[in-house]
Amino acid sequence: MLIDLIAGARPNFIKVASIIEAIERAQNEGLPVKYRLIHTGQHYDGNMSGSFFEELNIPAPYYNLQVGGGSQAEQTARIMVAYERILLDEPCDVCLVVGDVNSTMACAIAAKKIPGIKLAHVEAGIRSGDMTMPEEINRIVTDSITDYFFTTSETASENLRKTGVDKSSIFFVGNTMIDTLLKNDSRLKKPQLWEGLKLENGQYIVLTLHRPNNVDDPAKLTQLLDTVATSAQGMKVIFPVHPRTAKIIEEHQLIASGIYTITPLSYLEFNYLVKYAKGVVTDSGGITEEATVMGVPCMTLRDSTERPETCTIGTNELLGTDPQNIPPAFARLFAGSWKKGGIPDKWDGKSADRIVSTLLAIYTDGKAIV
Ligand code: UDP
Repeated sequence: MLIDLIAGARPNFIKVASIIEAIERAQNEGLPVKYRLIHTGQHYDGNMSGSFFEELNIPAPYYNLQVGGGSQAEQTARIMVAYERILLDEPCDVCLVVGDVNSTMACAIAAKKIPGIKLAHVEAGIRSGDMTMPEEINRIVTDSITDYFFTTSETASENLRKTGVDKSSIFFVGNTMIDTLLKNDSRLKKPQLWEGLKLENGQYIVLTLHRPNNVDDPAKLTQLLDTVATSAQGMKVIFPVHPRTAKIIEEHQLIASGIYTITPLSYLEFNYLVKYAKGVVTDSGGITEEATVMGVPCMTLRDSTERPETCTIGTNELLGTDPQNIPPAFARLFAGSWKKGGIPDKWDGKSADRIVSTLLAIYTDGKAIV
């Protein structure tokens, strides 16, 4: 069984890292599985791509489509054209896509239209219900053509059943991003800025923002940054800035006073920073999951989440995008009354093994039990 693993953007690299390791474990046991890593080039610089390959020991991609930036449609179209060309020359058995970025949807469509190729989606079935998010469209389109659905929660499985997906194609396996976090917990690295900023455990806040709703309007972004800075009551706020947000800050010469803006951190450094933070303020999906597993209070500046278990079980709370909700949340954090969280079912470091053994079972005897 030849599996194409598709990765294009930062959160994808973290998810495929554990799947590659699981495939290599299966190979070491003599099981009949091979993979090709296809990097679409959606994220391409050292901060957003290269450092993840180095730190997580991800092998060099078999193909790099080098599509670069562009509008939603331009990027999607370039990925589809380049990946289809590869598949027509050298088809795979299974195209495995992860998450919800443009690379996910583009490769899913290209692969599904080629007879004989099956499509597997890791992180299938999650839904925010917010159709203004490009990611929600990518999720819905991908799941509408997927053959094997690997889910991170029972809620995601239920979302799929509700749309008519047969339960025999849905496999609740847990979370591959958390596999990578658990595996690397002892390797997390104190970031270089730690000493320079005189950071101390539990005495700083980590901030990340990159959703269009929060960052595309410079006035809104400024208001959010100012409110976080004042709510933090003198506690240092460290803000590794996503390239999308950096572009807006630069273009409009925004000043985030009271906030330490830095370039994106490598995976091991970023998660060290989160692990020892007083709390995290974010609009990222993946970070709400990691904060949940590390038991770090997490305030999410969004109105909805496709990962409800981070709120019902974990440490995450949805504050919405209205800045006036931020100060009371900080007050609760400083008062020590943030709820303690638990760990969602099957977020145990074995999700990628479940995925690989499920696919092997399907390919060897047509059946799979998770
Ligand atoms: N991340 C990182 N360095 C940073 C910020 C985030 O390594 O400076 C990692 C983080 O640990 C998580 C992933 O990037 O695993 C989340 O990516 P992002 O927020 O871009 O995407 P989302 O999860 O919202 O799709």
